[in-house]
Amino acid sequence: MSTQKKDQIISLLKKELNNNLEKYFIIYSENFIIKNDNVLFTLTINKNDASKFNEINNLLKPNLEKINWVKRIDFITTSHHHIDHSTENSKEKNSKVVAKYIIPVASGKGGVGKSTTAINLALALKSLNKNVGILDADIYGPSLPRLTGINSKPKMQEKKILPQNAFGLQSMSIGFLIPEDSATIWRGPMVMTAINQLIYDVYWQNLDFLIIDMPPGTGDAQLTLSQKVQLAGAIVVSTPQDLSLIDARKGINMFKKVNVPILGIIENMSYFLCEKCNERHDIFGNGGAKKEAQKLGIPFLGEIPIDIDLRINSDAGTPMFIKDPKSNTAKVYLEISKKLLETLEKNAIRQPKIVLD
Ligand code: ADP
Repeated sequence: MSTQKKDQIISLLKKELNNNLEKYFIIYSENFIIKNDNVLFTLTINKNDASKFNEINNLLKPNLEKINWVKRIDFITTSHHHIDHSTENSKEKNSKVVAKYIIPVASGKGGVGKSTTAINLALALKSLNKNVGILDADIYGPSLPRLTGINSKPKMQEKKILPQNAFGLQSMSIGFLIPEDSATIWRGPMVMTAINQLIYDVYWQNLDFLIIDMPPGTGDAQLTLSQKVQLAGAIVVSTPQDLSLIDARKGINMFKKVNVPILGIIENMSYFLCEKCNERHDIFGNGGAKKEAQKLGIPFLGEIPIDIDLRINSDAGTPMFIKDPKSNTAKVYLEISKKLLETLEKNAIRQPKIVLD
């Protein structure tokens, strides 16, 4: 990245902000990425100015766009404090409650069907009369636009982003806000800032559940979420293959280390039910996740079959639970969500007091 270009942006920021210092107090700008003349950075402002996000955006963006080499400028404004690793052991959590239960759906690696599971699970919970939101926090590869067919930008209300309605779910994805490939160049702190903002600057309304589709792996995003957000517990999705289980174990251990209970493991692409012979084929070997769950003493929530209809429809924007709620696969999602409710009720896990603001 050219330091000259970065300096040019910073000096313009300083000029604009100094002119308006009596109005806003900007704490710092950071995490600059300049690639092919596309500029991305975060701006942290004083908590008291949190309601002025739009105003500040409107003030800065047109001026930054006037710089002749700038092709595109994006910045994330946040009033949350910068998260650095010195806070890793801190117990400080955001006390604002956005849902009764905030549940991340995680996986040790990508491609195991985490996003597919997250949205169908959210829909199954909704069918049980719960008020459910889904947040696609997979900054590096947002799936919610593909899974819901929604591509429009969300609207704003009272300085907050309004979630989109996807099949009755309150839905938010970084993919609704920025072009698909922009976030692939983000580094740790930017991802954390963005996730925080997606949770706390979105107008979630009376949620029983906020299901968070996490980025795969055990990186910064998982760690931050665990430390900064009051989570009811995590769900880990795995496929039966050994490798994926090893990865899943890493995910489980990470949540354990930061004292987030594991609500259960789900085995996805568990078996193939042949329509012709009506026989179950355990293509990858089966039962691995269940055994692993038993060994670790955590609930096993269920086995989702390989379902070709599910893949075709969900990649075309209609989740299985909507496409065919009576299908075998939809029933499995329903069973899993019932088990999840049981687990939550049985353990009465970390149900925070609801504060309306
Ligand atoms: P991840 O979020 O783990 O990266 P996705 O949910 O995007 O994974 O799923 C990856 C691919 O696998 C998608 O094409 C999806 O439709 C497909 N898929 C997920 N679960 C199943 C399943 N049970 N049967 C068939 N295909 C599935």
